[in-house]
Amino acid sequence: MSASLIRFENVSKAFGSTVVIDDLNLDVRKGEFLTLLGPSGSGKTTTLLMLAGFEAPSGGTILVDGKRIDDLPAHRRGMGVVFQNYALFPHLTVAQNVAFPLQMRGVPRGEIARRVDAALDRVQLRHLSSRKPSQLSGGQQQRVALTRCLVFEPKVILMDEPLSALDKQLRERLQLEIRELYRREGLTVVFVTHDQSEALTMSDRIAVFNRGAIAQIGTPADIYDRPANRFVSEFIGETN
Ligand code: ADP
Repeated sequence: MSASLIRFENVSKAFGSTVVIDDLNLDVRKGEFLTLLGPSGSGKTTTLLMLAGFEAPSGGTILVDGKRIDDLPAHRRGMGVVFQNYALFPHLTVAQNVAFPLQMRGVPRGEIARRVDAALDRVQLRHLSSRKPSQLSGGQQQRVALTRCLVFEPKVILMDEPLSALDKQLRERLQLEIRELYRREGLTVVFVTHDQSEALTMSDRIAVFNRGAIAQIGTPADIYDRPANRFVSEFIGETN
């Protein structure tokens, strides 16, 4: 049983009078691939944004390695973020895109070059390092975004629907690649999707969200074979 790396304790989030997350308790274990799965509007992204430090909870506490997240400056939280709209800089090459966050942080030039090369090697993109994003396919762009996140050596990678803009074939290939990268690098991943099959294929555990609360959390087999309630059985039943 792995230790808990992140803990949500009685976390709530409201926008105005609308409660979006209601008394959420959730552990992310070190080294696991945890997926937040649920229909649109169920609070998955808001949960991820609070973890990334982009949104503050309205109530409750988020702990990272036992420390309150709001006591940690953003660069000490160890979170790497990959979103659906990968937002690469169009005027920079692949290598410059990956190097950019390291430059911003004042990492010495020689070390940047070494880390960028190593990161591009790991995802087999080094041969594309002098291309511009517009010269890459959607899948390659998403891989560059993932690489830019990996150069930080984050404790946790947060991914919000990273594959939903891609066609089915590419999506399935990248699902395998991300899963393989996760395994090889010993990462901890929190992955958001509304796609039941994607969650069932990729995850160690799945937290099924319904209206800002967790309807069930468990392994894909738990969720698929032993849904805890009607919401989960119907939502998973939509898988084809
Ligand atoms: P999901 O990722 O599951 O689709 P979200 O976390 O994006 O769900 O959204 C949950 C609910 O919170 C939705 O009803 C959404 O409209 C609302 N919401 C999200 N962000 C804001 C915001 N900045 N202001 C007001 N409402 C928001």
